[in-house]
Amino acid sequence: MSEPSIWWPIPVSSSRWFSEEQRRASRRYHEPIQRAAVMRSTGQLFGVLAAWWLIDRNQPTIAWWWAVGAVLGAVTLPRVAADAWHEFVHEPRFGIASVSPAAFVITTVGRLGVEGGLLAIGLALLREADGARWSTAGVACAAAAVPLVSALVGPRVVLILHRAVDVPLDHEAHHHVAALAAAHQLPTPRLVELDQASFEGANAYVTGQRSDLTVAVSHRLLSGPDALLRHVVGHEITHLRHRHLLWSALAASVSIGVTVAAALVIATRLAGGSARLPVLVLVAACVSQPFRLVLAWLSRANERLADRSAMRHAPISPELIKQLHLSDRPLLEPPRLARWQSSHPAPGERLEAAARSTDGPSVF
Ligand SMILES: [Zn+2]
Repeated sequence: MSEPSIWWPIPVSSSRWFSEEQRRASRRYHEPIQRAAVMRSTGQLFGVLAAWWLIDRNQPTIAWWWAVGAVLGAVTLPRVAADAWHEFVHEPRFGIASVSPAAFVITTVGRLGVEGGLLAIGLALLREADGARWSTAGVACAAAAVPLVSALVGPRVVLILHRAVDVPLDHEAHHHVAALAAAHQLPTPRLVELDQASFEGANAYVTGQRSDLTVAVSHRLLSGPDALLRHVVGHEITHLRHRHLLWSALAASVSIGVTVAAALVIATRLAGGSARLPVLVLVAACVSQPFRLVLAWLSRANERLADRSAMRHAPISPELIKQLHLSDRPLLEPPRLARWQSSHPAPGERLEAAARSTDGPSVF
């Protein structure tokens, strides 16, 4: 049987892999996120429309601050509320608070900083619009640098937030990391463990470029079944081998640069003077959507590639992968729209792919 393409999902129902009760619990867990997304979009829309209305009544100054407040509030408040819900309310089925209060506060402040900063750049641009000190190209390049910078420093900040420490040299995991890195012709990465209190789930991620690679694994994964650890490390090292982090950051950079440039050009043509902020926000929101879908699609292809490579270098039973999906904030049955927007294939699809790549009859 030929291998399925990494570009397209294997059609499969999650009911083949997860019980109705597990899927229901997962949906309950994710409902606040969906509610927050709807509230955020609605808030943005109403804020922008209200600003427009004020501009129409020759109240441009109030309109400015109205729009800024509405967008900032719409972006941040529901998200903060959803995060608080997620991080601190113990979900009945999974029962884990996965991020420490310190990490939560820093992450929230970081998000506010990024979003507030982007808004401030927009405002500065618009205030300078008559003098045109910042050209469209300059602003687009500045915006495009954001994903590159965050790809460079972000993972290191996350390591600090999760209080990562080196895994003791006598731990078996070092052999897996060295063997899997050698299989991909990579130098042996540094292996660190994420602090249990700040990262409760079973998960791992990688950072760095060729000479400075780090594999970070959670305590739960490190102390779990050996085969699962090897498989997850194999998946992560494939991301390093194919430089997925770098390519994703470049793709995000191009997408943001083009979105900002297009939004500025279109908004300037559609409306002049103080009407630009609402137009800018609306145009940027429309232009960015197709890019988001393409980026998510590319990310899912990278994940399928990493899954397949891990299966080849560190085979594992689908039952163990299932435990992994159940342990860490699972969305076992994402709605169709969420699948298109997701950076990872749906758990059911990943399990199906694993089952198809293992030799012999499936036990399921
Ligand atoms: Zn991955």
